[in-house]
Amino acid sequence: MASIIEQVRTDFGGWGATYDVDGLVERIKSELGTRGLTAEGSRIVFSVCPDEINRLHGRRTIEGALAAVYDGDFHLGTLAAYPISGLSGIAAASHHAPDRHIDGACVEGDLIILASPHVGVSPGPKLVYGRVTRPGQEHETTSCGAAMGFLKELKESKSCKSLDLNLDDPLDTARQIVYCQLVKHFGNELDRILEIQDENRQVIELAKINHDLVERTIKNMLHAFMAKDPCGTRFALVSGITINAPGEDFFVLKGISVLKE
Ligand SMILES: [Zn+2]
Repeated sequence: MASIIEQVRTDFGGWGATYDVDGLVERIKSELGTRGLTAEGSRIVFSVCPDEINRLHGRRTIEGALAAVYDGDFHLGTLAAYPISGLSGIAAASHHAPDRHIDGACVEGDLIILASPHVGVSPGPKLVYGRVTRPGQEHETTSCGAAMGFLKELKESKSCKSLDLNLDDPLDTARQIVYCQLVKHFGNELDRILEIQDENRQVIELAKINHDLVERTIKNMLHAFMAKDPCGTRFALVSGITINAPGEDFFVLKGISVLKE
C-alpha cells in the first residue's frame, strides 16, 4: 500500500508539490532565505481555518512547525481559511514584525503569509478525502467542516444558483461570507464539481477552488494595502492545501512568491 504522502502526490498530480511538515519548512526557509527574508526578521501570518486539527499538540502540524520557526503567529482567517480580517488585519500585522537591521539602520520587518485551506484524509488502500479521525476520538468527522458543509448543500441544491444564501443572519456571518464569495467568484467551477461522479475527486476539486479564493483574496488585499501604505515591510505569500492525516499534516504547495521585494 502506498504511503499517505505518495497517495496525496498522486491524487493532486501536477497541481502542486507535496511535502511533509519538515520538507515544507525547509523549502520555505530555503526559498525565502535566498531572497533575504529571515526567520529573525519576519512574522508568520496565517490565513487558515480555525479548526483545531490544524494546531492540536498531539499532531505534527504545519502551523505548529512554522510558528516555532517564526516565533508566533498572527491570524487573518476564518472558516475555510478565508482572510476575514482584511486590510485592517494586514495593517496590524505589518506593525508587528520584528525590526531588521541593515548597515546599522533599523527598518521594518517582513511578513510571511501562509494561505491554506485544509482537507482531512482517512488512510487506507485508497485515501478518503474530507474526513479524519481526531486525537481522542474513535470516529471520523469532516475536515474542513465548512467546506464539506458547503459541498453537501451544493449537491442538495444541484446548482450554485439554487443555493439558499441568507445574507441577513447575524448569528452565522463567517459561513455566509465564505459561501457567498465562493459562489460569486467560482460559480461555474463549482457547478462543474456536480458533474464529477467520484466523491473523493469532488472534495479535492473543491479544496483547490477554496485555495484559489483564499489566495486571490489575499493578493488583492496585499496590493491594495501596498498602494495605500508604502511601508518598508516586505510580503511573502506561501499558498497551498494542508492535508490533515490522523497524526500529522502534509502540504500540497501551490506557490511561494514575494509580492514586494
Ligand atoms: Zn475548516
